[in-house]
Amino acid sequence: MSNVGKIAYLQAMDIPVWINKTTQEKDIPPEKATSITDLDWETLADRVRHCQQCGLSQSRKQTVFGTGNLQAELMIIGEAPGAEEDRQGLPFVGRAGQLLTNMLNAIGLDREQVYIANILKCRPPGNRDPQPAEVIACNDYLNRQIALVQPRLILSLGGISAKNLLQTDQPVGRLRGRVHQHLATRTDLMVTYHPAYLLRRPEEKSKTWKDLQQIISHLANRSI
Ligand code: SF4
Repeated sequence: MSNVGKIAYLQAMDIPVWINKTTQEKDIPPEKATSITDLDWETLADRVRHCQQCGLSQSRKQTVFGTGNLQAELMIIGEAPGAEEDRQGLPFVGRAGQLLTNMLNAIGLDREQVYIANILKCRPPGNRDPQPAEVIACNDYLNRQIALVQPRLILSLGGISAKNLLQTDQPVGRLRGRVHQHLATRTDLMVTYHPAYLLRRPEEKSKTWKDLQQIISHLANRSI
């Protein structure tokens, strides 16, 4: 039996199967073999929905693809879904999500005006940090989302997001306050604290407020 046949059999029997990338590239049917860089929104979302490229596919309730304005000027990228996001299939819901909404409202933006996604599309168990292999497995999806949105600016939320988007080990405190470039897409990128961190350390909210002002100013300057 081919790997595709075996996988179909195991899935039909409700037996969990983790398809590694090598197997998937070799055996997926031609109609699904299209490179991620060629996918449109619909096929990209469908590819993510069925993705089994890393072990998180075994523990997720559902994937969390991303949401918002597909032509947004500002794209917000966090770390990974938490328990509530895993339940609802949407990014940044729950307390941290509400704080993000409030932060956007404070600078005159609605959630519907921006596009929101995460580095990982599936929840790491117990909200542990994403593992490097998981980030690598998921990275092409995010890069394709950025390429499709073509935002003027990416706002990276928190250390894990910044580390992976900028390939750096510098902490948020040293990265915030200036414009970087996302390595893969050459998109302007700024960094601030993750709302979940701000819930634990409310005294840092004033720094985030300054960051948000800079973001608005950067977007305004680029619009001229
Ligand atoms: S985290 Fe990303 S690579 Fe891993 S199973 Fe989910 S969608 Fe696929």
